[in-house]
Amino acid sequence: MALTRRKLLEEIGKVGGVGAAYMAMETLGLAVPTPAGAENFRLPRSSGKSRSVVILGAGIAGLISAYELSKAGYRVTVLEARDRIGGRSWTIRGGDTIVQTGRHDQHASFDPGLYFNAGPARIPSTHRAILSYARRFGVPLETFVNSNRSAGWDFGGKVVPERRMVNDMRGHMGELLAKAIDQHALDQQVPKGELEVIRGFLQPYAQLDRKGRYSPGGSSGYAVEGGGYANAPKGLAPLTLDELLPGTSLQARGSIVLPYIFEHIWDMQATMLQPVGGMDRIARAIYAEVKPSVRLRTPVTAIRRSGERVRIEHGPGGQATEADYCVCTLPLPILARIPSDFSPAKKAAIAGAPGYLHSVKLAFEAPRFWEADDNIFGGLAWTDRQNENVVYPSDRYGSAKGVIIGSYCAGWTHRDNPDAFAALSHEERTRISRESIEALHPGRSHVLSKPVSVAWGLTPYSEGVSAMWPGGPGSLEARPALYGELLKPEGPIVFAGEHLSYQPAWQEGAALSAHEALKVVAQMAQARSA
Ligand SMILES: Cc1cc2nc3c(=O)[nH]c(=O)nc-3n(C[C@H](O)[C@H](O)[C@H](O)COP(=O)(O)OP(=O)(O)OC[C@H]3O[C@@H](n4cnc5c(N)ncnc54)[C@H](O)[C@@H]3O)c2cc1C
Repeated sequence: MALTRRKLLEEIGKVGGVGAAYMAMETLGLAVPTPAGAENFRLPRSSGKSRSVVILGAGIAGLISAYELSKAGYRVTVLEARDRIGGRSWTIRGGDTIVQTGRHDQHASFDPGLYFNAGPARIPSTHRAILSYARRFGVPLETFVNSNRSAGWDFGGKVVPERRMVNDMRGHMGELLAKAIDQHALDQQVPKGELEVIRGFLQPYAQLDRKGRYSPGGSSGYAVEGGGYANAPKGLAPLTLDELLPGTSLQARGSIVLPYIFEHIWDMQATMLQPVGGMDRIARAIYAEVKPSVRLRTPVTAIRRSGERVRIEHGPGGQATEADYCVCTLPLPILARIPSDFSPAKKAAIAGAPGYLHSVKLAFEAPRFWEADDNIFGGLAWTDRQNENVVYPSDRYGSAKGVIIGSYCAGWTHRDNPDAFAALSHEERTRISRESIEALHPGRSHVLSKPVSVAWGLTPYSEGVSAMWPGGPGSLEARPALYGELLKPEGPIVFAGEHLSYQPAWQEGAALSAHEALKVVAQMAQARSA
């Protein structure tokens, strides 16, 4: 008798369980990753008939799971610990309370219409899955300005506009390369014709004069801008390499590298987008589709197997929910502490996963002096102070007030900054952020008001921004072996969340991991009913 692929999978499943069947599916090419883009994702329409799924967590991964499974006919229950959905996709508005472990509660009092995206703020145009959910549910999007040539870089105690830093750096690098070509230093490595092409290209690209010297032509700004009639512009002298890489130590000079390359990183490139009115609009729109299935204020306390099914214990009274399958989207630091019937290998992988990034964000409400005084519309200012980053709002230009991010401390300029900044009191973080804005906009920090800060390591039910896989988001570096173990189902339990994707620290990663997990659920349901 010929052994069909289904029969083979059934036999493997009987001997080795669902995990073994899943790995066999991968080997046979049946568990093929879904290409990015939710348009491409659909579970078989009636695959969920008479099947139930309990989903742990109502962040992006949990909500997308609930939506897609419901559409395929599964009976879905979502258990969410918090009194809100969205998880890390958290937008703070006036009236909201910020709870931080071991700290006093903060109360946001922003004016109506103003908001602070304490978690995600930007979506690259390459993130097709999350963008397609926004499109499907009619969430309006606007441009998120992710770099701004008029914004300041405050390094080594000196504020210089980004335009001058970036263009002078390109000029210097071009001049160096032109020198190397002119002095025949590259003759052995590069064919003559190619060197001529590069030399010709460098002239306009790096603004070199005929002798190959960098001669700023206005891209880096003017000492005096051109005006009407006889008011001719006056040029700026180029900054020296010391001024472009300020600091005395290699470490201090290195702290400015990221600002130079930031807008070239794959998922930081223009055009970036944001939902109008706050990032949580996307999570809320998906929630609207599945609301009756979601149980808020229901922390999961134990994850148990019950025959072929799952039994999830939750809530203070020891209640339990049983289902055929479970999609677990809990962040790893939290999952590590929840009692479970997981295999020793799974428990070891959860405990051994890399730590989470402990970024801090701090926001003020203020009249929009950065627009009125300095013509800065959106974008980022960079600094070697501990707050690292100031982010100007990309919404509602020209209105009376805005929420300015006084700090987005994520290890951009020094990897130890987030933990050190998180360890400070809210008042200290506020002081540092205020001083930074004062340096960028002298005389204006006194109008900053209503500061609110969120340290993600101290945020209950998150305990961090994301798993710090080697190399970070989009890295080509290999993942450790335990990553493979984390992907495997545990009997009827599958796993999702940004940490189980190659786009960690993004909502896109949460969406794409959910798609993979749901395919496994559908395959298991199909195998059971075969
Ligand atoms: C500071 C910061 C900046 C970011 N910037 C961006 C950005 O610009 N763009 C972008 O796209 N992404 C960004 N991200 C990443 C993005 O927010 C996450 O990747 C994504 O939201 C994770 O979704 P998730 O569903 O995997 O996890 P989560 O959102 O963490 O969902 C898990 C859910 O489980 C719940 N939960 C936890 N414990 C329990 C329990 N015991 N019982 C029941 N429920 C529980 C939580 O409350 C939560 O709702 C940022 C994140 C942070 C924190």
